Amino acid sequence: MAIEFSARIRRIPSYPVADGYSLPADVAMLASNESPDPPLRQVVEAASRAIAGANRYPDPSNSMLKRALGNRYEVPTSRIAIGNGSCDILLAAGEALLEPGAELVYAWPSFSVYPHLAAASGARAITVGLDDDHCHDLDAMAAEITVATRLVIVCNPNNPTSTAVPFADIAAFAENVPRHVALIVDEAYCEFNLLDDPNDTLDLLARHPNLVLLRTFSKIYGLAGLRVGFALCGSEDFPRAVEQVRQPFYCNAAAQGAAIEALKHQDAVAERVERAIVARVEVEAGLNALGIEPAPSQANFCWFDLPEDSDEAQVVKGLAERGVLVRAGAALGRPGALRVTYGTPAQNVRFLDALGEVV
Ligand SMILES: *Cc1c(COP(=O)(O)O)cnc(C)c1O
Repeated sequence: MAIEFSARIRRIPSYPVADGYSLPADVAMLASNESPDPPLRQVVEAASRAIAGANRYPDPSNSMLKRALGNRYEVPTSRIAIGNGSCDILLAAGEALLEPGAELVYAWPSFSVYPHLAAASGARAITVGLDDDHCHDLDAMAAEITVATRLVIVCNPNNPTSTAVPFADIAAFAENVPRHVALIVDEAYCEFNLLDDPNDTLDLLARHPNLVLLRTFSKIYGLAGLRVGFALCGSEDFPRAVEQVRQPFYCNAAAQGAAIEALKHQDAVAERVERAIVARVEVEAGLNALGIEPAPSQANFCWFDLPEDSDEAQVVKGLAERGVLVRAGAALGRPGALRVTYGTPAQNVRFLDALGEVV
């Protein structure tokens, strides 16, 4: 007889795992919005020092990392949550906030982890379609908030569409969310956003105790493999709640050490952003030359509809055969679209050449 699992297990979707983890090293991995640059030498050394003491459990309160983040963002450490990646904080938020009868509101297509929150908790997911420009329709989202709403998530810039809404719209939206409803603004890509200063939203924390700014070391800091993310919060309630629902040692010692060191190298962060912006301009020009109009990207990746006569699965396969891995839109809520991470200049050329051959 097979093991009998809980009913909720059948509702939880499987995360669309990118192909290619056993492919040769010269494949262009443009499917997961990772940084093309390896971590800095000093960051690797900091992680190594932590590993040398790995017979001990890591600091369960993440005190040094919280202090470093608190100094950088001028947020009290009691209003900072750390996670085993920011997805860990997202799932913990679902567990802490949601239950059958409750509702959460988010846009669609958006980050593929959000549907897990409702499925795992038995809450109802209210999804609001993006507008014709692949952007969040914040008015339509505000209209979906009811007495049952516990959580609203805005992904800005949005994954998978790469678009961002201006800070002023986020600020106005925050005013519209009742104080007892948690508002998570998922800012995994905020450093790549040129519409506004990525840290403008920090000013909103003082006015909105229900606001949570979710950030990660996986993208601009290039530490996706270590799993560390954080949330900057308007009150102490959110960090306390996500602490309660998790195991004590959710953030490992190497991740804590690497993250603390990575924060010291903001000059390297700025250089990575610059390279991503150059890639953005070059890839957009290359796509335009193929008659493709990508969504206006404020992230480290692009999003576009394939020409009418091309078959998404065939294009993805054709690119993979040419050593370029991208993400198919079908798995992300928009069949016929592709999401492609900007890589090194050589990888971007390779992607554009390969796409030119297959469409
Ligand atoms: C990549 C990403 C994250 C980060 O996930 P980690 O668990 O921190 O690696 C969070 N939100 C969105 C929208 C993302 O695309």
